[in-house]
Amino acid sequence: MINVTKTFLPDQEKYLQYVREIWDRGYLTNNGPLLQELESQLKDYLNVDHLYFCGNGTIVLQIAIKALEITGDVITTPFSYCATSNAILWEKCTPIFVDIDRATFNIDPDLIEQSITPATTAILATHVYGNPCDVEKIEQIARKHNLKVIYDAAHAFGVKYNGKSLLSYGDISTCSFHATKVFHTIEGGALISNHPELDQKLSLLRAFGHRGDESYHFAGINGKNSEFHAAMGLCNLPHVGEIIAERKNIFDAYDALLDWNKLEKPFRSSEVEYNYAYYPVVFSSEQVMKKVMEALAEQEIIPRRYFYPSLNTLPFMPNQIPCPVSEDVSLRVLCLPLYVGLAQEDIERIAAIINKSLLSP
Ligand SMILES: *Cc1c(COP(=O)(O)O)cnc(C)c1O
Repeated sequence: MINVTKTFLPDQEKYLQYVREIWDRGYLTNNGPLLQELESQLKDYLNVDHLYFCGNGTIVLQIAIKALEITGDVITTPFSYCATSNAILWEKCTPIFVDIDRATFNIDPDLIEQSITPATTAILATHVYGNPCDVEKIEQIARKHNLKVIYDAAHAFGVKYNGKSLLSYGDISTCSFHATKVFHTIEGGALISNHPELDQKLSLLRAFGHRGDESYHFAGINGKNSEFHAAMGLCNLPHVGEIIAERKNIFDAYDALLDWNKLEKPFRSSEVEYNYAYYPVVFSSEQVMKKVMEALAEQEIIPRRYFYPSLNTLPFMPNQIPCPVSEDVSLRVLCLPLYVGLAQEDIERIAAIINKSLLSP
């Protein structure tokens, strides 16, 4: 079976060395030495100054909303994983969906201002597939209307824009290090802030608002992560360069093999140093997409409908705001298998099955 992704696993012996170290120390979690080492290495690798390793890529969205004291309405994208809008709801705010740009599949900056009301306090946008949002326009709008900006950068590990880390845009960026992402710690996530004055608050918010000296500051949450997860990160981080390079090769192979007369893909600016996180293709209709899915399933090849459905259509959303572009793209898009170890012959087979199903009426 070929899945949309397959988790990268580092050398087992190297991981076990870390595990033995943890055993010897008897210190398993709560800001331990491996976690601190991982945070330090991640700051170097990503070239950011303020980074907090946390439990997962969802709790960091919630902590970011809390840290920036966001209330009321939050402008967000309908084309993302449900964690993005669920975090807004969980923090008792209201997601206001703004449709996506037809070329990039990211929130359309030209539609943001018309959705701003006195209740709007923030923009939470996703760099979908690791493609940067229009960070300059979003910053301009946020300044003009005094809004906070959070980027859900769950897909954007290692991406650079205009030569600098994409994570350095906005007030806070959040990452996911889930086992399905480009860089993983089994479960995990990170808060990246561009405000030194938030340091205390972020480190307290992820640990109950409680410091070891028995001082209690405010109602924090448990957003911590363990030494075992940090150890996986320390094993994987040295491989990220090779992981991204191999993903690029697979990406280029699909680019060369697929029949682009009948397919589309999102646009990516040439200013981007990309991480090749996903390989989305958009078919001419949902019917064609389903036909391709069935043809692939017959050969036990399982792509994923990232992202479907468009989040604005989820039945539990408090307001049903139409987003025609996102609803249309989400019906027609599939992400193809893309992972380290995917064989060239399998890539050729996948492309051939897709091209063949596109030909028949
Ligand atoms: C994976 C993902 C998340 C959630 O991350 P977890 O670590 O699984 O909680 C959030 N947002 C987006 C866009 C994602 O793809």
